[in-house]
Amino acid sequence: MQITVLSGGVGGARFVIGVREWARRDAAARGLPADAAHDIRVVVNTGDDWWLAGLRIAPDHDSLLYSLSGQNDQDRGWGRRDETERVASELQAWGVTPEWFTLGDLDLGVHIARTAWLRSGIPLSEVYRRLGARWPLGATLLPATEDEIDTHVHTADGQRMHFQEWWTRHRATIPAVSFENAGIDTARPAAGALEAIAAADVILIAPSNPVVSIGPILGIPGMRDALRTASAPVVGVAPVIGGRVVRGMADACLTAIGVDTDAAAIARHYAARGADAARGAQGVLDGWLVAEEDAASVDGLAVDGIPTRAVPLWMRDADTSAALAGDAIALARDLR
Ligand code: GDP
Ligand code: CA
Repeated sequence: MQITVLSGGVGGARFVIGVREWARRDAAARGLPADAAHDIRVVVNTGDDWWLAGLRIAPDHDSLLYSLSGQNDQDRGWGRRDETERVASELQAWGVTPEWFTLGDLDLGVHIARTAWLRSGIPLSEVYRRLGARWPLGATLLPATEDEIDTHVHTADGQRMHFQEWWTRHRATIPAVSFENAGIDTARPAAGALEAIAAADVILIAPSNPVVSIGPILGIPGMRDALRTASAPVVGVAPVIGGRVVRGMADACLTAIGVDTDAAAIARHYAARGADAARGAQGVLDGWLVAEEDAASVDGLAVDGIPTRAVPLWMRDADTSAALAGDAIALARDLR
């Protein structure tokens, strides 16, 4: 089976690890080699990417790359394990990087490799392939687009800043009024992403930040059409449990675009794919998973054309993530 996942960084990575674990167990149960039964492709958000110290940084891609390869720092929850910061302190002493954004030495190696390849004219999807070839990932990471669509934030006090400055420096505490992906109007979905959507048997939207992780992917002209015309069912997983985001500050993003931090509100924001296209509908969802705490929203969402199931939504480890992935795949299969 070909499973395509739309994903952001840390939350998305936990989910993709679950999909990989589910696929390996399913293969084992059928006596097949671990990574042979299922083909997992991940369409990765590039909206978080930015230029810093002359380097192209890709936080969501790196989160997925480090998590799937086991190179991630599990205690910190981001970056690489066994990391040192000698170069970072030099860069900060020179004033080349701000004190609120530390680039670890091993991490810098990845950014330098990525930037060197990009500067020599290699497309981003090939850069992903090269970075992904170093460790066995058990999934193929694909950029949503080859074009730069860096997310910028317009704040209530009239500033416009790169998403990383708002998120990492200000910890999303300055109220935002809108998000802008500079260049997205002329961006196109990457060929590999379109292929992964068209060829999929199941399409899953990870429980990633709906605004700045999944939002930029869906905002690339042509991406919604690709999802709306795909033959595979599209099932999303709520990134919110009992009216709260699980990890991080995604509620600040939801508030800015006028969506409640609520599993049902997010489903309605993504909207049903089945809605009438002639009326300009842009929905992408065929099914939705909410937490058991949010089971009360199941009936209302069914009325809105989004078949919904309430399942355990906490991804604590590979087991709970795999169970969640299995629930998403089961719903997709039942919808097909
Ligand atoms: P980022 O790009 O690193 O911010 O990560 P993502 O956008 O992929 O994911 C962030 C979202 O993941 C947040 O909105 C969290 O609420 C959600 N999230 C994190 N852990 C869990 C979990 O265990 N279960 C669910 N359902 N959502 C989670
Ligand atoms: Ca991100």
